[in-house]
Amino acid sequence: MDGQTVTAAPVLILLGPPGAGKGTQARMLEEEFGLVQLSTGDLLRAAVAQGTEAGKKARAVMEAGELVSDEIVIAILRDRLAEPDCARGVILDGFPRTTVQAQALDALLAERDQRIDAAVSLEVDDAAMVTRISGRYTCAACGEGYHDAFKQPATAGTCDKCGGTEMTRRADDKAETVASRLEAYHAQTAPLIGYYDKTGALARIDAMGAIDDIAAELGAIVKRVTG
Ligand SMILES: [Zn+2]
Repeated sequence: MDGQTVTAAPVLILLGPPGAGKGTQARMLEEEFGLVQLSTGDLLRAAVAQGTEAGKKARAVMEAGELVSDEIVIAILRDRLAEPDCARGVILDGFPRTTVQAQALDALLAERDQRIDAAVSLEVDDAAMVTRISGRYTCAACGEGYHDAFKQPATAGTCDKCGGTEMTRRADDKAETVASRLEAYHAQTAPLIGYYDKTGALARIDAMGAIDDIAAELGAIVKRVTG
């Protein structure tokens, strides 16, 4: 540092499998700390809609049915990070997904005197997660939620709230589907976890507990990196 007090906006990454409550936690961080969540999908759509230079490139690539390159995503992110609302800090969602992208992101942040302050991994117990998700069902009539293990209606098959007897389960919540989703998540994320472990940005949080406890731990990390 050159003697000036420069507080660079913190940059956080939230890593967590579907069902770990990533979205909920990100929203809470937005509310509590004024951080802005930047999701790759939203960024791409916005850049295309605004017709920025990078957005035009992205559009051409997508119209050709091809994947948007890391270079284009980085260019879009560069534009977005320069906008004033990002001055309080950002949470990245959906990017990076690979170590190559993580390196490109580090280079971009270095241009801006920023860095990844924390890559927070919301850690889950896979078996418990399968039980938690695959046990969910809802009353078709009123939408009341139930669970095989944690919340059965007083009379099996009959909704406590409305007396309805038709219960529905989401196809996505099948045990096998959940298990393979978790497996894919771990396979994809392991290199990133290793990467941020090496850079020292990695923080692990037990995401099996209560939402408020997870939020408190996450909040402590944000406070630490925002000084
Ligand atoms: Zn009901």
